[in-house]
Amino acid sequence: MERKVIEDVVFNVVDEANRFFAESGIDVRLLYIGQLHLEPGYLISLNTPEGTLRVYPLEAIIDVLHARLLGEIERGSNMKMNKIFALTTFPLVSRNPYFDFYERFLGIQETRLGLRIMVLSMKPFEPPGLTSLLNGNKGSREDAKKHLRLFKDRVLKGLLHEIGHGFGLGHCTNECVMNPPDSIEEWDSRPVGYCHSCFIDLKRAVEWSELSLGEGEREQG
Ligand SMILES: [Zn+2]
Ligand SMILES: [Zn+2]
Repeated sequence: MERKVIEDVVFNVVDEANRFFAESGIDVRLLYIGQLHLEPGYLISLNTPEGTLRVYPLEAIIDVLHARLLGEIERGSNMKMNKIFALTTFPLVSRNPYFDFYERFLGIQETRLGLRIMVLSMKPFEPPGLTSLLNGNKGSREDAKKHLRLFKDRVLKGLLHEIGHGFGLGHCTNECVMNPPDSIEEWDSRPVGYCHSCFIDLKRAVEWSELSLGEGEREQG
């Protein structure tokens, strides 16, 4: 996909997530800190049924994100930061051969000394043929718009899902972004938001984490 389209999707989804949190009275905000550049040295070869892929392993991405978050915290900001979230355009793979990346619609998280690192691939959410639709090679402009909207909604729900986990929420079985899908169609049927019970849990967890973040700062003096 073209960089312009990816940027449009990312900016839009970040904006919409921030609006969602603001309107819901949840004190979580995403701060866009830019694109991440990975060194080609991190690339690994992965054998898949469709041939050999050259990919960035999750382990390397997590290391880079962790370093980036530490750098951001050091630079200081008027926002309390203890989480970093990356959206990737490539599928998530691991050096671990049992990592099931074809099945994976949702993200990966790791906690290092209280810092949360979250990674979500946009790849499985991309509607087939989106690029040719956007380039006007097939379908109408309306079709292109509809597919782009679908793509953004899928990514936005993925983001809300991962943020839920980032604040300790587990999966649920309600009409809710915390209900993980078995198929992309199922994901499309989920509402953009949390069920009542997950919403309350998230709100509490965010309030609690603000308190504990405050304490952490005092400890550091
Ligand atoms: Zn999940
Ligand atoms: Zn729920």
